[in-house]
Amino acid sequence: MAGSEWIGEEEKKEVLDILETGIWMRYGFDKERKGVFKVRQFEEAFCRYHGAAYALGVTSGSAALKVALESLDVGPGDEVIVPAFTFVATYEAVLEVGALPVMADIDESLNLDPDDIPGKITPRTKAVIPVHMCGAGARIDRIVEVSRKHGLLVLEDNAQSLGGAFGGRKLGTFGEMATFSFDFYKTITTGEGGMVLTDREDLYVRADGYHDHGHDHNPKVSRALEGRSLLGFNYRMNEFQGAVGLAQFRKLDGIIGEQRKNKAFLRECLGKIPGVTFRRLPDPAGDTATFLGFHLPGGKETKAFQAALKAEGIDAVYFKENFWHYAPNWEHLIAWSSANARKFPFANPLCPEKAEYRRETIPGAEAILDRTLFLSIPVRMPRERRDTLARGIERAGKRG
Ligand SMILES: *Cc1c(COP(=O)(O)O)cnc(C)c1O
Repeated sequence: MAGSEWIGEEEKKEVLDILETGIWMRYGFDKERKGVFKVRQFEEAFCRYHGAAYALGVTSGSAALKVALESLDVGPGDEVIVPAFTFVATYEAVLEVGALPVMADIDESLNLDPDDIPGKITPRTKAVIPVHMCGAGARIDRIVEVSRKHGLLVLEDNAQSLGGAFGGRKLGTFGEMATFSFDFYKTITTGEGGMVLTDREDLYVRADGYHDHGHDHNPKVSRALEGRSLLGFNYRMNEFQGAVGLAQFRKLDGIIGEQRKNKAFLRECLGKIPGVTFRRLPDPAGDTATFLGFHLPGGKETKAFQAALKAEGIDAVYFKENFWHYAPNWEHLIAWSSANARKFPFANPLCPEKAEYRRETIPGAEAILDRTLFLSIPVRMPRERRDTLARGIERAGKRG
């Protein structure tokens, strides 16, 4: 739950600034706002942290994905390669812009397998969305290399691994664009909110315009007289989100530090249980430690251990049967895409009768998720909680 566990005076102070000026919108009212620009400040801090040129605050991580896809000019007739293991929003965003998500496999990092990309490419493939799931990065260097070789754009969905790194470089700075989420479950939260990150000015200009009805945000004229060169919509972040985001963002490295300590402790407890192995991270030093992923030898043992933990009051997630994070389970998405076949002039890979949506096309995910459990890592882990968890894991190990 991360940032939502650490809301305090810092957030209150930032929000009070907005209540005092009375200007809750990020644009306009230059005189009345008395120099208070919370969203802008949040974006600037976000850029500095990542060493990136442009950041754009938006209403949610889902909106961020849509804004980024629009900026990359992904649309009807295009296919986008997306890992089978992700939150449903990654697929929804691709469908929202009229393109088709093509399900791809994951590797031992539990993130998109770069070696599966070539096999999922068709003449219509335009982009790849690697998702850095559950706190840790994909083999992003290899994903970018394979994508470039095939002329594909890379959009990193980094909703779940803000602050993570690969080879000393922040996740979200490898592809053409990246997106982040600040919903209530994420590493830092603004209630709802998101960010788009890019180094490319042309992409930023498109994103900036698209997220605000096409406004060109010309500083020399009033908002009413601003020009527009593209059709947009409204995904603007407001000043409350910006204010809370600024305070939360300053806590990010502290949050990650606490999570790392707590994760190391739980890893040690689990490591004592025969048969338990751990998710293989491409760069352990860049882990944000929001989750601890671990394996048991097989599916039967995994479910038995999950039940044993449950009996000790410990919830471990078995994502293979999860409703929201594993594409083969989304019957509603298949039903929707079949009912909306008219929107797709080309073959629809989401239809169950088409090879692309069968579980057989993602053997890696089917096998590894079958023997994977995840523990969510708390930021706050007082002594009693530590002891309860340690004891619970030890006892579950004896049952399982
Ligand atoms: C949370 C999440 C999103 C969507 O973010 P919201 O802010 O909840 O809209 C997108 N992708 C992934 C991987 C996520 O975990």
